[in-house]
Amino acid sequence: MSSHSASAAPATMNPAQMAAVQHLDSPCLVLAGAGSGKTRVITQKIARLLQPGEGADLAPAQIAAITFTNKAAAEMRDRAKALIGAKAAGKLLICTFHSLGVRLLRDDGEVLGLKPQFSILDSDDVTSILRDAGGTTDAKQARNWQWTISLWKNNGLNSAQALSQAQSDDEQVAARVMKLYEERLAAYQAVDFDDLIGLPLKLLAEHESVRMKWQRQLRHVLVDEYQDTNATQYELLKLLVGPQGIFTAVGDDDQSIYGWRGATLDNLKKLPQDYPNLKVIPLEQNYRSTSAILRAANHVIATNPKLFQKTLWSDLGEGAPVKLMEGDNEEHEAERTVAHFMALRMNLLEKHPGDPDKTAWNNFAILYRANHQARPFEQALRKANIPYKVSGGQSFFDKAEIKDLCAWLRLLLNNDDDPAFLRAVTTPKRGIGHQTLGTLGEFAGKWKVSLFEALFSESLAASLSKRALEGLHDFGRYVNDFEYKARQTYGGEDAKVLLLEWLKDIEYEKHLYDNEENEKVAAARWTNVLDFIDWVAKRCGGEIENDGGMTVETEKKSVIEVAQTISLITSLAERNADQNVVTLSTLHASKGLEWPHVVLAGVNEGSLPFSREEGEITPQQIEEERRLMYVGITRARLTLGVSALKRRKKGREYVQAIPSRFIAEMKLSEGGGPKEDPREKLRRQREELAAKAKAAADAAKAHL
Ligand code: ATP
Ligand code: MG
Repeated sequence: MSSHSASAAPATMNPAQMAAVQHLDSPCLVLAGAGSGKTRVITQKIARLLQPGEGADLAPAQIAAITFTNKAAAEMRDRAKALIGAKAAGKLLICTFHSLGVRLLRDDGEVLGLKPQFSILDSDDVTSILRDAGGTTDAKQARNWQWTISLWKNNGLNSAQALSQAQSDDEQVAARVMKLYEERLAAYQAVDFDDLIGLPLKLLAEHESVRMKWQRQLRHVLVDEYQDTNATQYELLKLLVGPQGIFTAVGDDDQSIYGWRGATLDNLKKLPQDYPNLKVIPLEQNYRSTSAILRAANHVIATNPKLFQKTLWSDLGEGAPVKLMEGDNEEHEAERTVAHFMALRMNLLEKHPGDPDKTAWNNFAILYRANHQARPFEQALRKANIPYKVSGGQSFFDKAEIKDLCAWLRLLLNNDDDPAFLRAVTTPKRGIGHQTLGTLGEFAGKWKVSLFEALFSESLAASLSKRALEGLHDFGRYVNDFEYKARQTYGGEDAKVLLLEWLKDIEYEKHLYDNEENEKVAAARWTNVLDFIDWVAKRCGGEIENDGGMTVETEKKSVIEVAQTISLITSLAERNADQNVVTLSTLHASKGLEWPHVVLAGVNEGSLPFSREEGEITPQQIEEERRLMYVGITRARLTLGVSALKRRKKGREYVQAIPSRFIAEMKLSEGGGPKEDPREKLRRQREELAAKAKAAADAAKAHL
């Protein structure tokens, strides 16, 4: 996986990459195909910006690098560490748009009426609040509202504006539910994911002093995967960088795969209009894939209409042909894929004995369109005793036991978070019944205070039995006490002690075993809990790292600080980056990454391009699916298998499956050699000539 490159010696760069890195005095857009070293430009540019003298001489805190996922952020920090050392890298603001939003709101959100310890709700929390606010038990209805409200928010509309624009009865209802939803979020001091972009935008747009502060602070903003930003993110970027607009964006219109979530290529088209002094730099050499793989990718994407003309070539040699694979059904496909990997690895072990870099399982990945496709591969890998991890799948943080603990941490952070209060007070059960909570809820509603605040109110005593009241008070005191300690506890070691003590206090292990009939399941849940504790502790910092020969301690954070950002993390993948395991991933989650050996699985009509049984698929959707195929193909460095099913499961039956049109579009029968793309050929010849000329020049120099 690309983590190999983290420790690589000083990275070389071609002239175009160098030009992008050295361009400092106006905005810069690197627009280039997959594997051309765009992300490398960002990492190298960070180092350049920090360089005293000829560089820009910026301090780490003056630079923000925005990546698309937390995983990519972690990887970029690793790469930056290798270049500038752990200590300096720790001060860089390397984050996603969402975690940048957290930072802005935590520092300055008070002018919007948000306290620094606001909670961040995940998608499930939002669904249940909407169900409650809309007075329905229908989860599907709640999710429809969620979708609509999210779209409105992304378009900068609040509930009042949404209501005045509503076209149908359904939209009117959704707008009314949105109003209740807004009120609840304000009362809970909570925000949802859309708010993490929308509120910082509002903050910067409406508060000049805050805007100026950030514009002075951030002297260079770098954005990776720019093609997948949405309209609000672009607005936010514009306000962050200010009128001078010193930023570097890198992206590839052919890899835009989040249109369904509001990302828009308009952002690419707008850049040159909004910044007339924009320097656009193309990159044309692909350093990732063999020619066989790259040719297949180029053929597929050539079918889409071109927004920007691009060429992409590789001098890594022809390599193994792209392998077409077939499975009779899902299980068979999984077995074949695993057998294929085992054969490849046998070969590698023979060729490179004792070279774990080339033979480790983390050189292998299986990519698919939808999460549910992972299961047969997991089974087959388990059967073959091959270690694996599923990334981009059901999130670790969606597991009930982890949500329980997160609710507790959220309550510590923000006592006004009523949903967190309700979950924490009832998990594990502590003899506080629904009736008591109902009374507490009524009281809180009447006095417009949070449940936690209501609990300590003197007049509550009149409406509750002594026993019930004592139970609530015990809980409240425990939370206060724990919160106090969590605020004082910095660094991983102490954090771990505190968190384990907490689990013991609330008897969480017992709770798991009491509520789970199957002991094995309970044990697995408990293991998850311990993993989670380790993970939180690790994020509290204070570890000793080797930094260019010196040992340094990473910055320490309190448990409370760490608690706030937990809901932004969707997988433990960051922690597992270097594990020696096969990666199973959706195509969406594979963006920006690379592996030596890749199989694209289930490449059939209906899956890729994906289509719902009932719905028509529009030409725009096909184009986006084609870009997804392009992303998939270009993740592979040395070998690529493309697998299609002959039959697939539909309910309990098998139906015939049709290979994806994208397979034909790869034009695999057109080999390399004589049928080489003329542009590619020309370029190759030019390169060869240039190399010869350089050799001659070097030889001449040697004579002088
Ligand atoms: P994607 O579009 O998939 O995000 P990218 O354009 O960001 O790809 P990188 O991930 O930066 O490409 O680079 C692809 C691979 O090529 C990496 O392994 C990187 O280390 C390597 N690479 C990039 N530039 C060079 C170079 N000038 N010389 C050698 N290797 C390079
Ligand atoms: Mg990249």
